[in-house]
Amino acid sequence: MTFAIAVDPSRPQSVETLQIVFKVVERCNINCSYCYYFNMGNSSALSRPPKVSVETARSIAEWITQGCEELGIPKVSISFHGGEPMMLKPRSFEAICKIFRDRITSVSELKFSIQTNGTILNDTWLELFREYFRTCWRQHRRGSRSS
Ligand code: SF4
Repeated sequence: MTFAIAVDPSRPQSVETLQIVFKVVERCNINCSYCYYFNMGNSSALSRPPKVSVETARSIAEWITQGCEELGIPKVSISFHGGEPMMLKPRSFEAICKIFRDRITSVSELKFSIQTNGTILNDTWLELFREYFRTCWRQHRRGSRSS
């Protein structure tokens, strides 16, 4: 997981957006010769667990929520990354999205994105993207979170 922060120039001591790259899968279903992650001489990813657990995601969601609350960070952007993040089972991916949405939108606006090779995309995944990628941000702005 890596982090970046965006600062509002009018409030230089503040953090406007917390940007998180969340590597949920440390493997890939294809093998691009140019891949910086697997084919450039560093195989450390292969020594880590292949996929993140829902329990680990729950701990991360709590940590992010607590940090946003304490620091007054109004926006969070989470990008699902890998390897290939869609190697997670859709049910696990949905559970992780729901945990993040339920916890983080209690204190901050939340936006999801994903970096994928697209080879696993199907109707199940599209339905998940419709549900979680379009609604989190607006739900918080409307002040009407869904479960
Ligand atoms: S799809 Fe991405 S992660 Fe997978 S091998 Fe290609 S560049 Fe690497």
